[in-house]
Amino acid sequence: MGLTGLEIYKHLPKTNCKDCGSPTCLAFAMALASGKASLDACPHVTEEAKGALDSASAPPIKLVKVGTGDHVVELGEETEIFRHDKRFFHPTGVAVLISDSEDVAAKAEAFEALEFHRVGMHYVTDMVAVKCDSGDAGKFKAAVETVAGKTKKAMVLITEDPAIMEAGLGVVADRKPLIHAATAANFEKMVALAKANSCPLVVKGEGLDATAELVEKIVALDYKELVLDSGARETSKVLADLTQFRRLAVRKKFRPFGYPAIAFTAKEDPREEVVQAGTYLSKYADVLVLKASGKQQLLPLLSWRQNLYTDPQKPIAVEAKLYDIGAPTEESPVYVTTNFSLTYFIVEGEVESSRIPSRILSVDTGGISVLTAYADNKFSAETITAAIKKSGIEDKVKHRKLVLPGHVAVLKGALEEESGWEVVVGPREASGITKFSKENFA
Ligand code: SF4
Repeated sequence: MGLTGLEIYKHLPKTNCKDCGSPTCLAFAMALASGKASLDACPHVTEEAKGALDSASAPPIKLVKVGTGDHVVELGEETEIFRHDKRFFHPTGVAVLISDSEDVAAKAEAFEALEFHRVGMHYVTDMVAVKCDSGDAGKFKAAVETVAGKTKKAMVLITEDPAIMEAGLGVVADRKPLIHAATAANFEKMVALAKANSCPLVVKGEGLDATAELVEKIVALDYKELVLDSGARETSKVLADLTQFRRLAVRKKFRPFGYPAIAFTAKEDPREEVVQAGTYLSKYADVLVLKASGKQQLLPLLSWRQNLYTDPQKPIAVEAKLYDIGAPTEESPVYVTTNFSLTYFIVEGEVESSRIPSRILSVDTGGISVLTAYADNKFSAETITAAIKKSGIEDKVKHRKLVLPGHVAVLKGALEEESGWEVVVGPREASGITKFSKENFA
């Protein structure tokens, strides 16, 4: 349990010197208790007090790293229960499961080839999990070796048998895989392996209380690179346990749950598995291990992850500039829209569908949509004219004809006057662009 502000205050120098940026030591203590300040900000705190305040100054959820080099996946260090309160920081590591009893090479190759491009974003799965289903250390070691040879991405090794885990680690310990799992029956040996190889370790309990007890035993062995697994595999139970991990860590600073958490999908039906995975991704899995490896399953999950881990206070924008669609000529049509990424990519998709080479002028509206930007005077005759001049389009087309979104047809007169271009009012919705384009420019 975290310390209260008054308990923290007792350990501070009480000089009110303001060097920490707070007006008083009490204000600093309150900020520390609520996770809004770091103990490092006070240069006068004694070593003795630092020890006593360790739990108050530590982040509610520890940062744990899996993998090495460019393929490190950072887990945890989250501070919020609800994204809109601030933001989530470290996207869930999505791991595709490979059993040592299947065609390991083929699945590893398919895994490595997984990548997606959507609305200007590039998505990849960032982890691969190798599971021992054979019960054979040699077979597991060979599977780990095969997977490690096909991909450099972060790995999870899954077996509760310390001897089999040791065989797998013998191949990839230098890549700092996540070890799954220490249980009540094997934790001393698993901790020894994790310590010897400096690898993060999953603590798998049977329920929340047992998980907390096991974490405390492992911390007493002086190992803290931990990830939590309550042992549940049924959707509602997993969701409840993940929620309790996050709530107790963030709200109560309950130290045994102050670590990232892992979840496994269990559904056999591919569509149900995606729904189950989406549930865990939303609340609050830091690592998600999937049996699914199809593009059609992973794309929605990775898209959802991308949305969830953006900063809700910052609109998603594309670069404000002139975009070529196809190979436009000096006669090609020119569309204008905002740099809100969703708007831009919808317009781009519709213009592409027309199969008429064109240009799209994306105006810097701070990443907000057409009507909002118009209401805020960011999509106006002046801003569009400035974008025309800056883009260099006047050197690229012979004509002076611009297609304006139908929702802001009211700008037509002012824009023609300001820019000297003829303004053609386009459809109100982007879905009408293809038809409009064929009717006007084919
Ligand atoms: S720097 Fe330390 S001693 Fe000075 S006001 Fe802040 S908490 Fe108090």
